[in-house]
Amino acid sequence: MSDSKNFTCIGCPIGCPLQLTHEGRDILEIEGHQCNRGAKYAQQEFRDPRRFLSTTVAIDGARWKRLPVKVTAPVPKDRVVEAAVEIHRLSVSAPVALGQVLIRDLLGEKGVDVVATRTMQRV
Ligand code: SF4
Repeated sequence: MSDSKNFTCIGCPIGCPLQLTHEGRDILEIEGHQCNRGAKYAQQEFRDPRRFLSTTVAIDGARWKRLPVKVTAPVPKDRVVEAAVEIHRLSVSAPVALGQVLIRDLLGEKGVDVVATRTMQRV
């Protein structure tokens, strides 16, 4: 028996409403997209939804107490909380350079690194 899921495409400001019809894990049809990016987005959301994550971590020896960080690739949606907990365990020491890798392969996810999004000198 087929079922359907609704998504809103985030590929551009139009925000097309997407409807994906599936039977189990098999995708039968995708409707509502005005371009191919919408179809790809619906497939990704159905098969392996992922999210980017930006936050801050504690830093010692810098002018500020928190260092902004982000992941270099999206993490599985159902592991976002776990990822945030893991990142917040970090405590780094200045100096830190923009783009410096603080955690490689977060939660064992290949290519998902946590990097600094600003440089902080030691003071
Ligand atoms: S399907 Fe294409 S046109 Fe529609 S929101 Fe996505 S990127 Fe934009």
